[in-house]
Amino acid sequence: LMQLFRPLDLLGWVYRSIRQGLIDMEAMFELVDTRAEIVDAPDAPSLQVGRGLVAFEDVHFAYEPERPILNGVSFAIPPGTTLAVVGPSGAGKSTLARLLYRFYDPTGGDIRIDGQDISKVTQGSLRAAIGIVPQDTVLFNDTIGYNIGYGREAASESEIRGAARGAAIDRFIAALPQGYESMVGERGLKLSGGEKQRVAIARTLLKDPPILILDEATSALDSRTEEAIQATLDNVAENRTTIIIAHRLSTIVNADRIVVLDAGRVAESGTHAELLRAGGLYAELWARQAAERALEEAAE
Ligand code: ATP
Repeated sequence: LMQLFRPLDLLGWVYRSIRQGLIDMEAMFELVDTRAEIVDAPDAPSLQVGRGLVAFEDVHFAYEPERPILNGVSFAIPPGTTLAVVGPSGAGKSTLARLLYRFYDPTGGDIRIDGQDISKVTQGSLRAAIGIVPQDTVLFNDTIGYNIGYGREAASESEIRGAARGAAIDRFIAALPQGYESMVGERGLKLSGGEKQRVAIARTLLKDPPILILDEATSALDSRTEEAIQATLDNVAENRTTIIIAHRLSTIVNADRIVVLDAGRVAESGTHAELLRAGGLYAELWARQAAERALEEAAE
């Protein structure tokens, strides 16, 4: 893949990606294969995924030693269920996703998938088990078909079409003059935020991972697009162990469980209804966002 990029393209892309906060972790990893300190033990076994139980056990983490970000976070996601992580900006939500994908290792505690410490298994086997739908998807200067199939080299044309259908972007593509051969990316067709997200969903469907990380877009899509994308994401998450990093609350009402992160700790957890009844931080965040939504709608 590296050879497909002219060095300057790659540099520009890496620079933009970093500036935007490492938005597509998965692509980032594969291209600039990366952090020297994360290495496999010489005899590291492959991750054996069974039902896909994900557990954080007293996880501590700091990007810089003097500034702890996570201070003992524990939760478990039962196989096939959806856990949403919410909390104030900067609470450490996206950091949890980066640790699960092993962008970094925890400084204390551990993260387990079906009982196996993820820092002890090969990175390749770990990342093969996890799909990420990032906040903002990086598209390559290539065809839309390539962009969907990217990540699974052996994907056939009919598999790519199937994934596009699953992500509800097939009709959009069919309406393009050159269909799946249409060029996208910086030098091709510019896709909207929602369309790019659908490309990411299609990629994930092709990968078919047992574990899924959804890093919800911070920038709001219009509410109709958001609802449509939500329905597609619900389909993708079905029967997969899913962690949603939620920057807004409106989309996670139906999560099996919600963890509220505050200052690097789990402040409370429960279902949407339970947390509203509890009248704590979640209820407060919910009331605030509801008020903001009402204001936005009044302005529309
Ligand atoms: P938001 O909802 O605003 O996206 P978040 O809860 O997802 O916030 P994180 O992205 O996990 O927050 O960041 C938690 C803290 O870690 C923030 O204070 C952030 O500044 C800091 N941080 C994030 N990435 C790095 C990094 N690469 N190096 C140093 N500090 C970082």
